[in-house]
Amino acid sequence: MPLETIDDLQEKVIARNPAEPEFHQAVREVLSSLRALGNRHPEYADARIVAQMCEPERQLIFRVPWVDDKGQVQVNRGFRVEFNSALGPYKGGLRFHPSVNLGIIKFLGFEQIFKNSLTGLPIGGGKGGADFDPHGKSDDEVMRFCQSFMTELYRYLGEYTDVPAGDIGVGSREIGYLFGQYKRITNRYESGVLTGKGLSWGGSLVRTEATGYGCAIFAGEMLASIGGSFDGARVGVSGSGNVAIYAIEKVHQLGGLAVTASDSGGYVYDPDGIDLDLLKQIKLEERGRISEYAQRRGGNAKYVKNGCVWEVPMDIALPCATQNELDGKSAAKLVKNGLRVVAEGANMPCTHDAVAIFADAGVPYGPGKAANAGGVATSALEMQQNAERDSWTFEYTEARLTQIMKNIHETCLATADKYNHPGNYAMGANIAGFRKVADAMLAFGVV
Ligand code: NDP
Repeated sequence: MPLETIDDLQEKVIARNPAEPEFHQAVREVLSSLRALGNRHPEYADARIVAQMCEPERQLIFRVPWVDDKGQVQVNRGFRVEFNSALGPYKGGLRFHPSVNLGIIKFLGFEQIFKNSLTGLPIGGGKGGADFDPHGKSDDEVMRFCQSFMTELYRYLGEYTDVPAGDIGVGSREIGYLFGQYKRITNRYESGVLTGKGLSWGGSLVRTEATGYGCAIFAGEMLASIGGSFDGARVGVSGSGNVAIYAIEKVHQLGGLAVTASDSGGYVYDPDGIDLDLLKQIKLEERGRISEYAQRRGGNAKYVKNGCVWEVPMDIALPCATQNELDGKSAAKLVKNGLRVVAEGANMPCTHDAVAIFADAGVPYGPGKAANAGGVATSALEMQQNAERDSWTFEYTEARLTQIMKNIHETCLATADKYNHPGNYAMGANIAGFRKVADAMLAFGVV
């Protein structure tokens, strides 16, 4: 593809989508990789495939009114961006967090197109959410919010149309309330309309663990490709939610030692290794704060209020909290402290500057759209089980997940080689993800 076209397109995307810096960042990152296609695929340029891909197929913004425990009416804003359905129904999570806005949902939805393509499974890309903060809300408040959210969203969903799942602030509790309301309004037990469901009502074993497990498995493959392994490695993990907890669990199973966890208040450093049972109890059962971990763990564990987790020396970094949490300054510190590999559990946690510093230092960098694809891949496996009215064992499902992560790793490296950027996982992920979607779009004509 001629260089000018990419530059032009980037400018147009920025002009057409003002004040959406995260979306611009995600588009810039993918388009910069597509330069490596050179003139090899004029058919994509002729059909303006990239321009089409940067425009969501459909964007929904809606009011979500609900009543809090004091009887006061609250109003939030809901979003669903149905970005691309070339490979299957729109698929991507819902995020409930006060920072949510259209630009953040668009960045996540855009990333999801390429991620879902990389899994090799028949799923398109989408994302949604609301600027609702579940922290500090009662179960009843969360239920009323979810019911109101689904009362609007249900008309756009369906197992062949759009299939949401969880993300930040949306776990099994929220998925339960959302599914209950969908079932009530439609009078249909349509299991395949949401993933991340409870095990007794259509959920899949391993879905809860899948994103974190997949990220650690991907990092293990990256280490193996440079002749290393997790054995004895000190691993820094950020976040203490769904992705972080199960990344830590798999790191320990693979022989590494996870020594950090964090939340928006600060981080804990536990040189003896994170006590996973304690972490799960505090974060999953009690919905508490990470500060409590250090108090209850005692020993050498310490809590650093408002601290940056990337100050801790580590061999492997797994950022698993949120976008742009690891900047250039942190990357430089990590490199200085001997970092060997970074794999993203979160979506776009490393800034552009951080990625450039890793590249300069020769530290392999696994982008989220490859390294955290295990979650959505297992969601697609959940959809398969729902369609078959079947449920697979933990061992079988985990074996499928492991194979998918290995395939994605291999695809990234092989594609990076093919386009003359050996070892560049981001380049490999973007091009491989893009080409599959692009070829399907070409086949469909201008629709
Ligand atoms: P959770 O809500 O379970 O956990 C999020 C964690 O990140 C919490 O510890 C939270 O701390 C922390 N966090 C969130 N926002 C910030 C912030 N602005 N600053 C510092 N810490 C923050 O979410 P998940 O674990 O599900 O998601 C984490 C990341 O992984 C996200 O980027 C998500 O998009 C991505 N992801 C998730 C998938 C999944 O299957 N769940 C699939 C693929 C990617 P606090 O409680 O203080 O807010």
